[in-house]
Amino acid sequence: MRIVFMGPPGAGKGTQAKIICDRYGIPQVSTGEILRAAVKNGTDMGKKAKEYMDAGKLVPDSVVIGIVKDRIREPDAQKGYILDGFPRTLEQADALKAMLAEIKTPLQIALNLDVRDDLLIARLLDRAKKEGRPDDTEPVIKSRLDTYHSQTRPLIDYYRKEGVLVEVPGEGTLEEVTSRILSPLEKIK
Ligand code: AMP
Repeated sequence: MRIVFMGPPGAGKGTQAKIICDRYGIPQVSTGEILRAAVKNGTDMGKKAKEYMDAGKLVPDSVVIGIVKDRIREPDAQKGYILDGFPRTLEQADALKAMLAEIKTPLQIALNLDVRDDLLIARLLDRAKKEGRPDDTEPVIKSRLDTYHSQTRPLIDYYRKEGVLVEVPGEGTLEEVTSRILSPLEKIK
């Protein structure tokens, strides 16, 4: 099962991706988590990424494309994966398409989890209280939403044209959203 999870920050992508990955026994490949770990460990990549992340901007394409290229070649990803938070630009989407074509494993679903901006801001501020993520402050949240609208939202059309788009409303309870996500996935299992 090879899936991309898209959606604005705070839509619940990470939480839902984890539930689905546990259910199917596949890895959740979250570029955000990999980058946060790199920042925490003070690696060269982490040092480069930190200023972009702190400002709510996207880390350069070459960095995240490299992360995903390596990760999906690992043994545990051979039975499938969910890409959580990647791709976020058209260049990343093209790079993903090329790398998957090379290993002859095309993407099966690009799932877009949609939530209105006003709800997202409330959810992210709430997460800030619980998890203390440094990029969950109000000005950075606004910047991340702007980045999403200008750079990532065009991917909805990109994947619609590719014929793999599935749109799921991200509003409602956690369980409601999970069951909405599971029904299209059951068909490709
Ligand atoms: P996330 O946990 O997915 O919200 O990602 C947190 C931050 O990591 C983002 O605001 C970006 O700065 C960076 N990031 C994560 N994934 C990507 C990506 N695919 N492209 C560029 N930057 C990314």
